[in-house]
Amino acid sequence: MRVMLMVLLILPLACLAQVRSAYGVLTTGFWEYQRSCTTQPENRLVNLERAIPGLAVDIRYAGTNNFMKERMYSLPRAYARQPVAHALKQVQRELKKQGLGLLIYDAYRPYAVTVKFYESYRDTTYVASPYRGSRHNRGCALDLTLVDRKTGKPLPMPTEFDSFEKLAWATAVVDDPVKRKNRDLLIEVMTKHGFRVYEPEWWHFDFVGWEKFDVLDVSFEELEER
Ligand SMILES: [Zn+2]
Repeated sequence: MRVMLMVLLILPLACLAQVRSAYGVLTTGFWEYQRSCTTQPENRLVNLERAIPGLAVDIRYAGTNNFMKERMYSLPRAYARQPVAHALKQVQRELKKQGLGLLIYDAYRPYAVTVKFYESYRDTTYVASPYRGSRHNRGCALDLTLVDRKTGKPLPMPTEFDSFEKLAWATAVVDDPVKRKNRDLLIEVMTKHGFRVYEPEWWHFDFVGWEKFDVLDVSFEELEER
């Protein structure tokens, strides 16, 4: 009888814990994520549009204007972990002084979407490996560019977002001085506030300290329901 009781008590706890995906990576679901936020508030995913004044958002995977030509997200939302959101707020504040702002193309990505990308694309230079999970899955990566605050238009950059060209590399030689200056300014201001650019993509930045955060498989709907 006592054993039965123990099993009954442990079973629901096991359901709350992390789950190993088909690719071997440990992922955290909604309930465990919520529980962890009560003891570690830095784990909380913050809605960036709500938290950062004047932030522009164009979540490409919530529509069909992306390299997959397919809607990958159920909702057009930009979420990031609490310290990431805090750092990004400082970036936005600094850019404001120059009449500029940030435009977010992608932020937190549920792990299930990373698996979908990989199973369609099978290359891990431009899509994250489901064996490790993406830094986007940890709520610690952002894809973004600069916008003119007055017109709301993105500044010219060496390539479009999600371009697979060599020119998309953060260190690529760019002949156009305006595009080069804009790219270098974005990298400079993001670096100053604790982010590191991903070499093959001038638009992708990882938050320094991302290793401390787990791979999440929490849907946008679950985050909205909180
Ligand atoms: Zn990215």
